[in-house]
Amino acid sequence: MSTDSFAAMPDAQGYFGPYGGQYVPDHLKKIMDEINTSYEEIRACPDFQAELASLFADYVGRPSPIFHAKRLSEQLGGAQIYLKREDLNHTGAHKINHCLGEALLAKFMGKKKVIAETGAGQHGVALATACALVGIPCEIHMGQSDIEKEHPNVVKMKILGCTLIPVTAGAATLKEAVDSAFEEYLKNPEEFIYAIGSVVGPHPFPKMVRDFQSIIGKEAREQFLERQQCLPDYVTACVGGGSNAIGMFTAFLNDKDVQLVGVEPAGEGLDTQRHSASLSKGKFGYLHGMACYVLEDDEGNPAQVHSIASGLDYPGSGPEHSYLKDLGRVQYDNVTDQECLDAFMRLSRVEGIIPALESAHAVAWAIRTAPNLTAEQSILINLSGRGDKDADYVAELLGL
Ligand SMILES: *Cc1c(COP(=O)(O)O)cnc(C)c1O
Repeated sequence: MSTDSFAAMPDAQGYFGPYGGQYVPDHLKKIMDEINTSYEEIRACPDFQAELASLFADYVGRPSPIFHAKRLSEQLGGAQIYLKREDLNHTGAHKINHCLGEALLAKFMGKKKVIAETGAGQHGVALATACALVGIPCEIHMGQSDIEKEHPNVVKMKILGCTLIPVTAGAATLKEAVDSAFEEYLKNPEEFIYAIGSVVGPHPFPKMVRDFQSIIGKEAREQFLERQQCLPDYVTACVGGGSNAIGMFTAFLNDKDVQLVGVEPAGEGLDTQRHSASLSKGKFGYLHGMACYVLEDDEGNPAQVHSIASGLDYPGSGPEHSYLKDLGRVQYDNVTDQECLDAFMRLSRVEGIIPALESAHAVAWAIRTAPNLTAEQSILINLSGRGDKDADYVAELLGL
């Protein structure tokens, strides 16, 4: 594929090859198209870009640094490992990058309310933060059983002033929260906006969220070049829906000597039903308004999936990842819950950095791969978030 065609994705209908699109009812298509038009308008507007850049700098704390994990590299006895520190962002993860963009877009479009679902509460907290900053009402739907598990995020959302809607239907987790939030959105899609939390959903969300996240790779590429006078040999990131990974990869797509590796959750093993490796084990299907790789059950419905990291627990992956896999430009590998947990502890104890369990998947892949490479080679990991949110859970699992 030529340089130009990567930059041109998606096409005007929101397709990345056969993936993406807008698989929603006609009246919603019209609204998605309006969102796209407004987005393209602000994207081309220097004032908007200046406002976003200044929030990235003074509010999020960008650019996030690149850290050379020397002790870990030495221990592994192979490639040099570098971390792009998205864990140091305000609110502790990459999600704030696109939540700010979405909140500013909502305000620009004169929307009366931003609606979203949240599973573990990470998207909810980042969005409630962005909405507090921008000054727009925010309503987050969350399953009752998640509310009971994720107390710190629940109270943060309340403190940040969003309206938290507990969802008690069914298993009362993420799926029911999506249904409930979407139902509320459909009551008035002209005046509300549904803020999607990853590079998934109908066009233009996969494009828009990618663009907001692409600051990660843009910075990382410049930082790495400036310091090392070369590019990394490998760039890796964990893939749930795929926003932190695409944010990192976009700047490197045309660097054909840089190997890009997305790491999916193999959970309790790819040969069990307890994983969520949709790119490794899924097939072409439709999910949440898009065509993409999906894991399906025997009836053809999105499968019940599992990962130790709740942020990776999604039965599909974004359309751009689906296409990059088919093109062979990005390799998708996977690591198990156990490898993730080992990497979580190892990075904490060797470098004093507690990673999010999601990010620990990419760290685990690097730990597995580095010993097979030379000390002149390098792996750049997108450390998508910090692990404070996971500390109690890990302590309980390991009996600490
Ligand atoms: C939500 C989350 C992820 C997974 O989402 P992507 O869209 O795949 O990036 C990864 N890491 C962290 C820290 C998260 O909060």
